[in-house]
Formats: sequence, C-alpha cells, structure tokens
Amino acid sequence: MVAATPTVWERSTPDPALVSEALAGSEQRVFWLDEAPPTPSAEQLTSGATADLVVVGGGYLGLWTAVLAKRRDPGRSVVVLEAETVGWAASGRNGGFCEASITHGEENGRNRWPSEYEQLHRLGRENLDALARDVDELGLDCHFERTGSLAVAVEPHQVPWLSEGLSEGLSEGGHHDVLDAAATRAEIDSPIFLAGRWDRDDVALLQPARLARELARAARELGVRIFEHSAVTAVERSGARSGPQVVRTARAAVTAQQVVLATGVFPSLLRRDRLMTVPVYDYVLMTEPLTAEQKRAVGWEHRQGLTDLANQFHYIRLSADDRVLFGGYDAIHHAGGRVSSRYEDRPASYERLASHFFTMFPQLEDVRFSHRWAGAIDTCTRFAAYYGTARGGDLAYARGFTGLGVGATRFAAEVLLDLLAGTETERTQLEVVRRKPLPFPPEPATAVGVALTKASLDRADHRQGQRNLFLKALDAAGLGFDS
Ligand SMILES: Cc1cc2nc3c(=O)[nH]c(=O)nc-3n(C[C@H](O)[C@H](O)[C@H](O)COP(=O)(O)OP(=O)(O)OC[C@H]3O[C@@H](n4cnc5c(N)ncnc54)[C@H](O)[C@@H]3O)c2cc1C
Repeated sequence: MVAATPTVWERSTPDPALVSEALAGSEQRVFWLDEAPPTPSAEQLTSGATADLVVVGGGYLGLWTAVLAKRRDPGRSVVVLEAETVGWAASGRNGGFCEASITHGEENGRNRWPSEYEQLHRLGRENLDALARDVDELGLDCHFERTGSLAVAVEPHQVPWLSEGLSEGLSEGGHHDVLDAAATRAEIDSPIFLAGRWDRDDVALLQPARLARELARAARELGVRIFEHSAVTAVERSGARSGPQVVRTARAAVTAQQVVLATGVFPSLLRRDRLMTVPVYDYVLMTEPLTAEQKRAVGWEHRQGLTDLANQFHYIRLSADDRVLFGGYDAIHHAGGRVSSRYEDRPASYERLASHFFTMFPQLEDVRFSHRWAGAIDTCTRFAAYYGTARGGDLAYARGFTGLGVGATRFAAEVLLDLLAGTETERTQLEVVRRKPLPFPPEPATAVGVALTKASLDRADHRQGQRNLFLKALDAAGLGFDS
C-alpha cells in the first residue's frame, strides 16, 4: 500500500492574504459573455408557428443542429426555442478548449470502446477539422487558435504517464512532443512543472460565448428563426401517431414534424431521460490582462491550452487579450442534483483556485483576478454524450458531454440529423451512438456515491494515482463521475 503524501497544492501554499487580496476586486460575472459583442436580441415566441424542425435549446448543440440542418437542406424551415438567451449556459462560460476527442479523452475512449476507438479518434479529428473549416467559411469571429495543449506533470509519479501509449503507436497520426522539465518550462514557466506533453493537432482554443453568438448569427443568415425567453414546457403529438408534434411554451406553440432536444444539463423534457445526467459545478477565475513584463515572466509564446494530470485537474489558458483563465479542480455535485444560480458563488472554490494559481505561477504574484464564475456540467456515467430517439424517430436528443462538449457537440449535431433522416451512416452504426450509459441512481443515493467517488479520487491523488477498491469496482462496472 502506497503511503499518503501531500499534493503539490498542499506542499507549497501561498500567503492567504495574497489570495484574498487578489480576489478582492473580482466580479461574479462570466468574462466571455462580457467580452463577446452582443447579438441583436431575439424575439419571444408569442404566436403559433409551424416549421419542419424545432430545436429546443440555444447552446452549441442546438445551434450546430440548426446550422447543419440548413446546410443539408436549405429549404427546410428550422426554429430554435431558447429558454433564456443564446449561449448563456455552459456554451458561453466554458474553458474554450475545443478538442478533437468525442470520447472525453483517449483513456476513457480506449477503455469503453476498445474495438472502435481508432474510428472514434479519426471521426473526432475529422470533426475538429470540419469545425475549423466552418469557422472560416461561416466567418465565425470567435478567436479560434489551433495551438494544441500542453499536459504537465506536477507530481513525480505523473511523469511516466506522459509517454504512455506513444511508444506502442497509440495516439498515432497526431503530433506529440514529450518535453522534459526544462523544455516544458521554456514553453510555460512554472517551478512545479516536472515534464510535459504538447499535443499539437487535437486541441484548439476559442472564445466560447463568441462561438455561440456567432453560430446564432450564421444560423439566422441561413434562415433559421431563433426565439429567446421561450422555455419549452412540453412536446406532444398533435393527434395521429405519426402526425406533427406540438412544442409548447408558456405563450404559444410551434408545430413541427421533427424535434431535437438540446437542453444540456437542464431537466430533460423526456421524463425517462432524467436520471441519465447529474449537474456538476465547475469554477473558473480570470485574471486582468498580463502586462508585457508579466507575460515575459511566464513565456507562453505558443499560447497552448494547459492542463495538469491529477484526477482533480486544472485547465488554464490565455484569452486574446492575454488574461489567464484558471479553472477546474473542484467539481461539485450539490445534493438534490438541481441546477441553480445560487451554487455559482462558492468562495471556498475560488480561494482554492487562486491559491493554486500562485503555487503554479509565483512570479505573477502582482496579478489580480477580474472575474469569477461557475457553470453546470451535464455529467453522465460514461462521460461521453449519449443519443436517443423517440416518437417513431421524429424526436432526437443528445446529452452527457461531461465537460468536453465544445467540439463534440458539432459531431453530435451531425448524429442527431442522421438519426432524424433515418439513414444509416458510419456515425449511427457506432456503439457509442447505439448504446446508452447506465443511469445514476435517484437522490440521495447519487449524492452519497458521488461523495465517495470524490473522496476516492482525492485519495488517489495523494497516493501516486493508485485507485482504491471502490474506484476499481466502479471502473469494472463502467460507472464513473467526472467533470
Ligand atoms: C465551467 C465549464 C467549463 C467547461 N469547459 C469546457 C472546455 O474547456 N472544453 C469543452 O469541450 N467543454 C467544456 N465544458 C462543457 C461544454 O461547455 C458543454 O459540453 C457544451 O457547452 C454543451 O452544450 P449544450 O448545447 O449541450 O448545452 P448548453 O450550452 O447548456 O445549452 C443548453 C440550452 O438549452 C436551454 N434549455 C434548457 N431547457 C430548455 C427548455 N425547456 N426550453 C428551451 N430551452 C431550454 C438552456 O437555456 C441552454 O441555453 C465546460 C462546461 C462548463 C460549465
């Protein structure tokens, strides 16, 4: 049995006065939503309408579905109904890591879908390439930068993990550089970086709220009608079994033959789908723009995304104006499993993040935070989105992106359109599309299970990554909890 040792975040803790001073001027607001140019506000649905396709939800999944539906068939009439405003939820407040992976990372993909992993890897890469082309062709002004990302070891036992798979030819086709401590620190300087792996091809960075608003603009230009402040309360058949569906809001309804549910972490409009995901809150800090001198002190010439390798990991990146986004580590499931803005101001999580920021970048001790925010992640037990249809194939849905949906929602939109078209494609044949994950148990069992899992993951981070029996049992059952 491996003895418990403190993690790097516990071995070197910055002065608590520095942490509170650095947070003192921060506002509880989403930087990305503040920075993105506003879109013309969309009208509310106030009178009845008809369409060929109604998309419920104006996050990435709903917006990509609308855009790609028009691309497939420009004559199809498409309506998007959004409960609040386009991109206000996860899509407007995430880290902006746009990854090729459609399996929530390579390890999760290989473990769960070993026989189709290579295909999933290829499809994910093709999806990222297609997304990059769409950014150009649709003129999506979203600060898209294909910088790759640097995964860093911050504990000695993580160093060998960086080369795992590379020697056996796994991860092939990509451009990966394993860097020693000096080479890692030459990229991004931190005294706690022991080694790194720069995956150059499979990750792009973007401004998330801009992507959502620009997708809405592109959708409108293609003829999609978008209604905001129009929460859908029910989707019903209008009469005959194969007849059109009525998508109701409080004030009016849209009648359409086909419906896509793209409601993310929010309660599913299909009752049977409700136990499939739980909301997990992730917390984020954004600094003020670094001065030229502060930027020199950290390097970061290649502007990669940055992550560390623990179970409880951080994601870190630069914005276009050289602020540092520092998020992750705490992934909080609140008992009861509800989505609520009251969970967003969590001082303990922000203080922990600020403390870890100064442990990682002690040379930036004069930097202050301008924004702090949180968002809810639609976690499912296999961490990668699942798909379903109902109403004889006229209603399709996807959720459960579990913290890796910026790129994967575009792939999912293609899957949903394939499913509605009723055509067999390479995508619809995939096990990842045909099979669903196990649901979570009802509350309070989920809250107890999540607390046990989190404690076990924390324990593993203190014991050289060694997983205890509880985690091994979950692994064997294909069940998990992540953000
Ligand atoms: C803090 C945070 C950091 C993240 N970082 C990353 C990252 O770096 N990289 C990455 O790949 N992923 C990341 N993610 C995950 C990523 O943001 C999501 O997977 C993605 O945005 C999901 O898009 P979506 O369209 O499914 O959901 P959402 O963006 O949540 O959109 C769903 C929409 O549906 C609407 N809606 C819900 N119910 C109804 C209804 N009844 N009627 C009408 N409208 C309704 C909601 O108002 C909402 O606008 C992060 C998430 C969070 C919260």
